[in-house]
Amino acid sequence: MKLLALPAFSDNYIWLLHDKGRAVVVDPGQAQPVLDALAREQLQLEAILVTHHHDDHVGGVQALREHTGASVYGPARERMPEPLTRLQGGDRVQALGLDFEVIDVPGHTAGHIAYFCRVANDMAPMLFCGDTLFSGGCGRLFEGTPAQMLASLDALAALPGATQVCCAHEYTLANLRFALAVEPDNGDLIRYAALCGDKRSKNLSTLPSNMALELKINPFLRTRCADVIAAAERFDPSARGPSGHLAALRQWKNQF
Ligand code: ZN
Ligand code: FE
Repeated sequence: MKLLALPAFSDNYIWLLHDKGRAVVVDPGQAQPVLDALAREQLQLEAILVTHHHDDHVGGVQALREHTGASVYGPARERMPEPLTRLQGGDRVQALGLDFEVIDVPGHTAGHIAYFCRVANDMAPMLFCGDTLFSGGCGRLFEGTPAQMLASLDALAALPGATQVCCAHEYTLANLRFALAVEPDNGDLIRYAALCGDKRSKNLSTLPSNMALELKINPFLRTRCADVIAAAERFDPSARGPSGHLAALRQWKNQF
């Protein structure tokens, strides 16, 4: 089983998983990077998994379906390119002999879903979380509330620490600059920011991350930590409770 991050647009990743000549892609905002990879690796596309309705995640779906005949899966409650199998939390998708578990993660969009793949003997579990969780950050709240995003992030945070976090954008450095403003004394964060800076200077991807690391460095997963609470309340003195602190962090990041 191989996992590839195909760059698309300026900072998207289309995740491609393949084994024995068959492939699955997640959030193909563009068809061409996927068609190129399929040709290069001589793969048959079996399934297309989509996390939410934004164009940079679905733009390549129709062309890929026409070229490959792949089945399309996506969120039950969003406007999507038809036809597709509509999914919600608790549903499962089988592809490449793997089992993908669907998790509802509203917040960035109202019907956003994530895909968690627990079993793959030769690799760590994988999470395809679209624009909900980024390394060092989270998605903007376009359609959901801070409380929804908090519950979504809590559900993801409960996954095994070894889980590979496959986010849909290379936003890591900008996120870490903000995270360091929130927690300037977090040693894990300082070390990770240096490591990621080094990777990006060599034009390497910072992803996938993993959940154990995100719990140590991502302020949006740390809204119950004293230093993060204190920083959120410096930005918005009226912020109370984990979702209030998350709302304050999100607002602060939007104008950072
Ligand atoms: Zn999006
Ligand atoms: Fe996006």
